[in-house]
Amino acid sequence: MSAPLRRAVVDLDAYRANLDLVRSWMEPVELMAIMKADAYGHGLDAIALTAVDAGIRWIGVLTVPAALRLRSIGVGEDVRLFTWQHDPGLDFRDAIDSAVDLGVSNVAELQRVVDAVDHRPARVHLGVDSGLHRDGATVGEWPALVEAARDAQRAGRIEVVAAYTHLAESSDADDAAAVAHFDAMVEQAEDLGLDIRWEHVAASLAGLERKEFRKDMVRMGANLFGIPGADGVSAADLGLTQVMTLTASVAKTKRVPVGTGVSYDYTYRTDAETTLALVPVGYADGVPRAAQGRVEVTINGTRYPIAGRVAMDQFLVDVGDDDVRVGDPVTLFGPGEDGEQSVLEWGRALDTIGEEIVCRIGGRVQRTYEGHSGEGRVGAYLRGERA
Ligand SMILES: *Cc1c(COP(=O)(O)O)cnc(C)c1O
Repeated sequence: MSAPLRRAVVDLDAYRANLDLVRSWMEPVELMAIMKADAYGHGLDAIALTAVDAGIRWIGVLTVPAALRLRSIGVGEDVRLFTWQHDPGLDFRDAIDSAVDLGVSNVAELQRVVDAVDHRPARVHLGVDSGLHRDGATVGEWPALVEAARDAQRAGRIEVVAAYTHLAESSDADDAAAVAHFDAMVEQAEDLGLDIRWEHVAASLAGLERKEFRKDMVRMGANLFGIPGADGVSAADLGLTQVMTLTASVAKTKRVPVGTGVSYDYTYRTDAETTLALVPVGYADGVPRAAQGRVEVTINGTRYPIAGRVAMDQFLVDVGDDDVRVGDPVTLFGPGEDGEQSVLEWGRALDTIGEEIVCRIGGRVQRTYEGHSGEGRVGAYLRGERA
């Protein structure tokens, strides 16, 4: 079988190893594995089942539909599924029935949750806005939210599981102020008669660098995908491995004379007779148009810049007189084993972060899974044996 034209190879062993390593660093603090946005573009099902096989107890997936999806593929209620961005029209009944944990930021949202309760209490995490100004209750909203939650808990309608916030990661001082604010809000809740069992605050960066912010649980996504966020720190520096490799096969080659204009607008011209290789990945697949002149791709161990504009479905590479043939694998980014660039390098070159690069890999790019596939739930799932 020939390789597909374009694919994202997801190394489940690498994900598992990253998870085990990060968990060992965080001990005895609990780790919530964050898998929003289809597990940062890696594919939610396989990543989640890999984490479940590894014994993860908390997964964060942003939305209720994503959590219900995980329940439907066999992620049992021993695994807590945290969601925190809710469609204003969402009926919470299925979430409550399936014991999905709900982040709640204001009284109106809490009321909608309480109204949906039938036979089992809803599991609620109260959000604090500590300065990011996304979700979470403001100082003004917090006491009313706490009182409503306390009363609903006393009435047996909800179980208040946790208080949480998310940090701006703007500076150490800003984050310290945000955590102090969070601590004050938790204290106020206790004063109002609401016990807070779990506190969670830190994501990948603060979880690694600020031990005092770990509280009871850290929520980590990027580290687990081998895309750490600290300036100038590579995955390898930390002992992590990048999970996704983006590859394609050379689709065509052609010999062209000196002075040949390449791709739209002729922004690149050959400076000698040369071979052009067509790489069938374009901006529709998540290679930004701005990647021209900024990143390099690897063919047979050699790095080449992108020649001319990135088009919707393809770009060209000037390979000179090198022996590059149709079907040769092209690595756009990967863990670095063949000298290719990493997602972090792509992010830096493109004035963004690695997370944006992997999240934007399009639906046309087939995800294929390597490693870990023989065993456990993920093995059964990948073989098509649904639980
Ligand atoms: C995305 C997200 C995380 C994980 O962030 P990373 O930096 O990828 O670890 C944690 N918590 C919340 C609320 C998030 O939105």
